[in-house]
Amino acid sequence: MVFDCHVHGPAENGTFWQWHPVTRDAGDMVRYLRDCGVTRVVVSCAGSQRSRTAEDLVIGNDIAYRLSGDPPGRVPSRAGWAPACGRGREAKGKASSEVSPPRQAPAGQEKRSFPGFVTPACLVNPNFLEASLAELERAAARGVCWVGELCGYIAGYPFTSPTGGATAQFAEIVARASALGMVLHLHAGTEEMGRLADAYPRARFVIAHIGDSAQHCAERIDMVASHPNVHMDISGAGSERVGILELAVTRIGADRVLFGSDFTINDPGTVLARIQRAYLTDAEREKVLHENVARLLGP
Ligand SMILES: [Zn+2]
Repeated sequence: MVFDCHVHGPAENGTFWQWHPVTRDAGDMVRYLRDCGVTRVVVSCAGSQRSRTAEDLVIGNDIAYRLSGDPPGRVPSRAGWAPACGRGREAKGKASSEVSPPRQAPAGQEKRSFPGFVTPACLVNPNFLEASLAELERAAARGVCWVGELCGYIAGYPFTSPTGGATAQFAEIVARASALGMVLHLHAGTEEMGRLADAYPRARFVIAHIGDSAQHCAERIDMVASHPNVHMDISGAGSERVGILELAVTRIGADRVLFGSDFTINDPGTVLARIQRAYLTDAEREKVLHENVARLLGP
């Protein structure tokens, strides 16, 4: 299995997050991933990433749920793909019969689904705090355990205040997600990720991107190594540098390093080529390729 924890799905208008648009639809997205050898992905909606209203969040999260094959109005059963969120916590969703009927995709919106391939993620925006907390509850009830990738710089909010800790709004999101057993996947600075991990030792974080320069990569790797509640998704420019993945596994340990590509922005095949050729044991490679993300998502 090859499990990519960092994929951006289509926005509500069908567009993808890409420097120059070439991916036409969700079928294209999945075909590209499969051609690279990817067998499963965590997908968040590119539209929710740029949410300007609370409604944008709901619409985008519904797109991710629909891509996974579970209509947005239905809470999937434990027998389906969806695990309970983290640490043996039981999913607290209502039975399917107690929730509203499935909402249909609006005209022009992606209607195809890829069950077993797409694992949906929930996005939130602290600028819409009440809606975000409700979205976390809705996601957890569906068995959705992954929150992110949260990109505050895109959506227009900070994770932390200049004086140190999480902003009041983001603190509420971390607390609620953590209480629900969810994983927070953050596009965060090295130092602010360390501060959040210190402030919330029981929360589970994944920091996106291994770094750019040699020094930047080493700093991020050392921060993760010293914070046991932080995992690292290796997407980004530094992952292609021979030796950097090996450095991450040596210092952090193979259990907290995850394959992430940042597709549809970056090519999953380039990241996979480096993982496959890296000086790792077979057991370490399997952990990076799929076991670690599956453990984070699993019961
Ligand atoms: Zn990303």
